[in-house]
Amino acid sequence: MGKTLIRQADVVLTMDDNRAELAGADILIEGGIIADIGVDLAVTDANVVLAKGCVVTPGLVNTHHHLYQTLTRAVPGGQDALLFGWLKTLYPIWSRFGPEEMFISAQIGLAELALSGCTLTSDHLYLYPNGSRLDDTIAAASEVGLRFHPTRGAMSIGESDGGLPPDSLVEKEAAILEDCIRVIDAHHDASEGAMVRVGVAPCSPFSVTRDLMRDAAILARDKGVMLHTHLAENDEDIAYSLEKFGCRPGQYAEDLGWTGDDVWHAHCVKLDGQEIDLFAKSRTGVAHCPCSNCRLGSGIAPVRAMRDAGVPVGLGVDGSASNDIGNLVGEARQAMLLQRVANGADAMSAREALEIVTRGGAQVLSRHDCGQIAVGKRADIAVWDVSGVESAGSWDPAALLLAGPSKVRDLFVEGRQVVRDGHMATIDLPRVIERQNGLARALAI
Ligand SMILES: [Zn+2]
Repeated sequence: MGKTLIRQADVVLTMDDNRAELAGADILIEGGIIADIGVDLAVTDANVVLAKGCVVTPGLVNTHHHLYQTLTRAVPGGQDALLFGWLKTLYPIWSRFGPEEMFISAQIGLAELALSGCTLTSDHLYLYPNGSRLDDTIAAASEVGLRFHPTRGAMSIGESDGGLPPDSLVEKEAAILEDCIRVIDAHHDASEGAMVRVGVAPCSPFSVTRDLMRDAAILARDKGVMLHTHLAENDEDIAYSLEKFGCRPGQYAEDLGWTGDDVWHAHCVKLDGQEIDLFAKSRTGVAHCPCSNCRLGSGIAPVRAMRDAGVPVGLGVDGSASNDIGNLVGEARQAMLLQRVANGADAMSAREALEIVTRGGAQVLSRHDCGQIAVGKRADIAVWDVSGVESAGSWDPAALLLAGPSKVRDLFVEGRQVVRDGHMATIDLPRVIERQNGLARALAI
């Protein structure tokens, strides 16, 4: 791959250690990394991308998703249900998925993320019906071209054991751990600039046993990979924890090895002050999913308090069955608005929300090589056209989340162009959409 020069951006929001904002700057990309930044860089042999009329930011980072759910958006029976009722509507549909459904739905979800500025995403896949494998989603991401942190999720407590999912969607715990080892050995890349890193992710404390939670943590530490699950999502979740485990979710997590800078939990809407202190002290990360929390009526996560205490916070669009849109820049705007609903208009600025969705997410996923525009960091870059109707009349185009586009013009991942002029450059998206709609129609019968 040759050099690329992003030339004359109106402003570059670097999110570097000084949060520098550079007017009229160029960015030189070479060998997958940011090689130089400055005004009027003297470069002769580069592919030039003119960025006049654009704001340039680091690629956005998505810390929580269930890509397979793009095939079950807006399912009528689940549109207005609370979390547990919603799951019961969708489980029978998901139990009919197979490898093709996993692959196509992942491509749709990844393309949707890319078009909304995302360069790095995690995914939480916790059911494997009809021969599906984590590998199906990894193959999808490799074609789309996003940096990908898939997690090997799992459920082991089915209906016959008092759990929520049907028995056909749960697995034996020994088989789960064995497959975790297989996918880590096959795909995990610990090196700087890695395009794939695998994590271990039992679905939630109420869908697996205490033993599996503990064993998963031991396995992840042994392999040097990260841990992820859902935690403290709503009031039912807290009540369940108190009743079944005799403690709050934070305590449960700590007791089983689920705190530390190699752990991140989705939602955490109901963390109390003590749990926030625990997460801050242990550097345990949180994937805040504001649209999903709104959609399921779960509440407003105490993100202001988490950030003030020093908890690493990133954003997640969450699965498309509970959002239903997977637009990450929209998610950042929602995060900003929701903290203002809870804490007042000065509770979160547009720039802070953008920092959470870039630098913040990279920290949560332990990607210190991503999430900012600085020399030596990976070339994951989003170019936003602010010459359109959404930004017309803006006095501060860099306040992108107040008056900016909901899609990128161009997107680079590891220096490779994934979105060009608002369209996917890596896959034939209209064809994938057609296949996805065909699969959805077949599932609806
Ligand atoms: Zn989720």
